Amino acid sequence: MLRVAAESVAVRCCIVGGGPAGMMLGLLLARAGVGVLVLEKHADFLRDFRGDTIHPSTLEVMHELGLLEDFLRLPHQEVRELRAQIGDVAVPIADFTHLPTRCRFIALMPQWDFLSFLAERAARYPGFRCRMRAEATGLLEKSGAVTGVRAQTAEGPLEVRADVVVAADGRQSVVRERAGLHVRELGAPMDVLWFRLSRAPDDPDATMGRFGAGQIFITLNRGDYWQCGYVIPKGQLDEIRRRGLDAFREGVARLAPFARGRTHEIRDWDDVKLLTVRVDRLRQWYRPGLLCIGDAAHAMSPVGGVGINLAIQDAVAAANRLWLPLREGRLTTEDLRSVQRRREWPTRVTQWLQLLVQRRVITTTLGRQSGPTPPRLVRLLARFGPLARIPARLVGVGVRAEHVETPERAPAPV
Ligand SMILES: Cc1cc2nc3c(=O)[nH]c(=O)nc-3n(C[C@H](O)[C@H](O)[C@H](O)COP(=O)(O)OP(=O)(O)OC[C@H]3O[C@@H](n4cnc5c(N)ncnc54)[C@H](O)[C@@H]3O)c2cc1C
Repeated sequence: MLRVAAESVAVRCCIVGGGPAGMMLGLLLARAGVGVLVLEKHADFLRDFRGDTIHPSTLEVMHELGLLEDFLRLPHQEVRELRAQIGDVAVPIADFTHLPTRCRFIALMPQWDFLSFLAERAARYPGFRCRMRAEATGLLEKSGAVTGVRAQTAEGPLEVRADVVVAADGRQSVVRERAGLHVRELGAPMDVLWFRLSRAPDDPDATMGRFGAGQIFITLNRGDYWQCGYVIPKGQLDEIRRRGLDAFREGVARLAPFARGRTHEIRDWDDVKLLTVRVDRLRQWYRPGLLCIGDAAHAMSPVGGVGINLAIQDAVAAANRLWLPLREGRLTTEDLRSVQRRREWPTRVTQWLQLLVQRRVITTTLGRQSGPTPPRLVRLLARFGPLARIPARLVGVGVRAEHVETPERAPAPV
C-alpha cells in the first residue's frame, strides 16, 4: 500500500477544537504574540443548535478585549430575566439587572456567529492559524510527554509538533481519551430534546422554563422563533418516539398553549435534536505537554446554560497563565497544573449546584404524575423577589470570574 508522507508543521501551541474554548484561547494567545494553530474537524462553524447563550461574564471579556461594541452589532436578543411558569403562576428565577457587569443581560446569538466573529478577529494577528477540516486522531509522544498531534486533513495526514497541545475538542474529546486521562462521571437524570417553533408578535416574550406534571419545557426567545428545549427522563427518547409525534406535539402544546397551532412545524423526528446530558470532570486536566479545557475537561449539565461560559473562562485563565512561558519557550508542567488549580474550584462548585438542581427540581418534576407544584427552591424565589439576583449572579458571572491579563501585540493592518 502507498503511504502518503504526513505534512509536518511546528508551532508553540496547537489547539484541538474550534469551539468557544479553542477559539477564545487561540485569539488570546495570538493577540499576545504566541504562534498558535487551531485544528477544527468541521468545514465551518455552521452546526446544529449547541447553545446560543453569551453570558454577562463573556461579554465582560469581550469588553476587556475591546471587541464588545462590534460584537453587539451582530443580530442578537437580550435576556434580562429568566422566569419559570408553574401552572398559572409565573415567577422570576434569575434577575440579571443588578449584576456588577457592563452588560446586565444574556445575549442570545447563534453559536456560529460568535465563533466566526472570534475567528475573524483572531485572524488579524500574524501568529494565528486555523485549519478547518483537520481532525486530530492521535498524539505524538516522547518519553511520556506529549509533543504534538496527528491529524487527518482534507489534503492528507498532518503532524503538528507543539510545546503544548490544548484539548478543546469538547465532551467527546479524542485527545483526552488518547492521553488516557481519567474521567469521573457525575450523572444526570435527564436528556433534552431541542427544536424550533415560530414566534408570533403577540406571544409572551420572556425566556422561560415551564413545569408540568412529569414535564419541563424551556423556551428561549430568538426573535422570530422560539428555541425550545423539552426535558425528558434519561434514555426515554425511544419510548417518546414509540408513542408518536402527535403525542409529543400534544405534550408541547399542553405546556405552552400559545404554541398549540404551531406544533405541526415539528414535521418529523429529524427536526428534534437530542442532547444526551452528561456531567463529568477529569481528575487531572493535564499531562506533560498537554492541557484540557472546556467540555473536554468537564462536561456541564445544561442547568443554567453555563457550558459556553465556563469554556470561555477556562480559555481566559489558560491564556493568562501560559502566554508568557509559551512566548519565551519555557513552558513547564507546573504552568499547566496552575490552570487546573485556578479553574477546578469554580467547575466543582458549579457542577455541585447543577447536581443539586437536577436532584431537587428536575428529578422531582419529571417523576410527578400530577401537578404542577412549584419545587421548593422555586417557591422560595417566588416569595422573596431579590433572591432572584443570586441565581443571576451564578449563571451570569459564575463562581470566579476571569479577566483578560494577556497583553496585545499590534494586529496586522486589515
Ligand atoms: C444541544 C446542545 C445545547 C446546548 N445548550 C447550551 C446553552 O444553552 N448554553 C450553554 O452555555 N451551553 C450549552 N451547551 C453546551 C455547550 O455547547 C458547551 O458547553 C460548549 O460549547 C463547550 O465549549 P468547548 O469549546 O469546550 O467545546 P465544543 O463547543 O464542543 O467544541 C469542540 C470543538 O472541537 C471540534 N472537535 C471535536 N473533535 C475534534 C477532533 N478530533 N479534531 C478537531 N476538532 C475536533 C468540534 O467540531 C467542536 O467545534 C449545549 C450543548 C448542546 C449539545
